[in-house]
Amino acid sequence: MHRREFLHHIITTSAMVTLGSFGTMASEWKETGTTMPVLFIGHGSPMNAIEDNEFSRGWHAMAATLPRPRAILVISAHWETRGTFVTAMERPKTIHDFGGFPQALFDVEYKAPGSPELAKETQQAITTTPVGLDESWGLDHGTWSVLVRMYPDATIPVVQLSLDHTRDAQYHYDLARQIAVLRKKGVLIIGSGNMVHNFRYLDARQGFEKHYGHDWALEANDQFKNLITTHDHRPLIDYQATRGFALSAPTPEHYLPMLYTLAIGGQDEKLQFFNDAVVAGSFSMTSFRVG
Ligand code: ZN
Repeated sequence: MHRREFLHHIITTSAMVTLGSFGTMASEWKETGTTMPVLFIGHGSPMNAIEDNEFSRGWHAMAATLPRPRAILVISAHWETRGTFVTAMERPKTIHDFGGFPQALFDVEYKAPGSPELAKETQQAITTTPVGLDESWGLDHGTWSVLVRMYPDATIPVVQLSLDHTRDAQYHYDLARQIAVLRKKGVLIIGSGNMVHNFRYLDARQGFEKHYGHDWALEANDQFKNLITTHDHRPLIDYQATRGFALSAPTPEHYLPMLYTLAIGGQDEKLQFFNDAVVAGSFSMTSFRVG
């Protein structure tokens, strides 16, 4: 067992004790009367956090059209665990989980508060697996590089839900459905990843800002959008069976957050794509809003 997994095991155990002892005392957030939209954000390069470009502007513009959330719950590609965890600390730290970038990026601190209350609400909403209350993670760049552009004042509480790397796509899709109830309690849920994300076919000469995609990546981006638009989720859950999709997600972590957004969104709700572009050959920035 790795050290982090060991720590998580300890946290899980204590979290379940807490739930067992104080389950009836946990806060119950009331419904607000409106249903918050749900987002999938293609986050791409961490540099979008400090660059004023079409993508970071797209995030900012989208935030301006949303009702102000009571809290934000992010499923980020960059927090994978064995088992499922939710950040439960009052003051999540900004995690600079990358290397080789300018100092200015390491200097970014996103000081949004956490929300132990939302952590408990999330824990209670998920009934099919135990959810550990985590005190050791924080906000990784899948979360803060986007939120620093969407909500630069950093006053809205933020919680992250981890991705259990031992589980398959169907499991994640089914898990996501359970947290949809939080939308009625003023929570903005964001899946943060990239629907096409393959470093092996990266064309660095093109950069992460210029629209440039290999044929297969452009095709996959279009197919993803078509299936999302027609609510045909089965081929998206079984993505490894389609060559272009498997190339788009050689590892699952950047793809799965999209399945969360799809599972959480309703079929009759308004759907809006934004930041629709493939960059650097094999990375899609395409994002969407449901509701
Ligand atoms: Zn990423």
